[in-house]
Amino acid sequence: MARVALVTGGQRGIGAAISEKLKEQGRTVVASFAGNEAAAQAFTERTGIPCKRFDVSDFEQCQAAVASIREEIGPIEILVNNAGITRDNTMKRMDRKAWDEVIDTNLGSCFNLCKLLWDDMSARKFGRIVNIGSINGQAGQYGQVNYAAAKSGIHGFTKALAQEGARFNITVNAIAPGYVDTEMVRAVPEDVLQKIIGRIPVGRLGRAEDIARGVAFLTADDADFITGSTMSINGGQHMY
Ligand code: NDP
Repeated sequence: MARVALVTGGQRGIGAAISEKLKEQGRTVVASFAGNEAAAQAFTERTGIPCKRFDVSDFEQCQAAVASIREEIGPIEILVNNAGITRDNTMKRMDRKAWDEVIDTNLGSCFNLCKLLWDDMSARKFGRIVNIGSINGQAGQYGQVNYAAAKSGIHGFTKALAQEGARFNITVNAIAPGYVDTEMVRAVPEDVLQKIIGRIPVGRLGRAEDIARGVAFLTADDADFITGSTMSINGGQHMY
């Protein structure tokens, strides 16, 4: 039986490429999303991958979604915590809401889904978890104290949980993408984007497929000796 993989935010951007890559590897993939029904419908029509709508920052919604996927498709053995948002602002202007939303969506979601899948994964003695961090969680970024804190938190979360998962054959790794050509990055003003590209040694933005390749590698059945690591996929922009 094909292993079931859940990719949060898996119907567009980096997540869509991850979902497609895992399907190509023979996984049974479910993509989650927050509210963009049009993107979800188009994605399912194009790929045949089902999409499930729930808010990853809400524990109860995650609980209901995990239960229904388990019942309809099977227990989730591969989890990619990819859903993420930005609410950029300087400290002077950032309000508490922008802080909470970013922490809850980017980092709280990792707790919610790992917590809800942990018993199943440990009982089955198999789990592959990949958390999508960011270069800005490693290096920091002006106007992103919320996002940098959440993404940096993901890297600590990954290392701690990897230690708990090791004896159950649950690996927990992170990927720290550099700047990838998705809607999130297209929202960056053009002049700022050109400066960013100028600082990337390979001279281009990343492609979603560049990140998907890393996820496929880390979630392979025989990748059981790789845990607690952070894979930087950033065109050489930040070496850490
Ligand atoms: P996009 O903005 O293109 O897509 C975000 C995805 O996350 C969407 O599917 C969205 O669903 C989903 N999502 C957002 N909030 C929630 C929520 N509360 N509950 C469930 N799903 C949610 O993002 P990217 O593809 O650019 O980024 C993917 C990940 O990679 C993020 O974690 C991001 O921080 C990280 N990253 C991205 C980089 C980049 O350059 N693009 C660089 C480094 C890291 P919906 O479509 O319904 O809104």
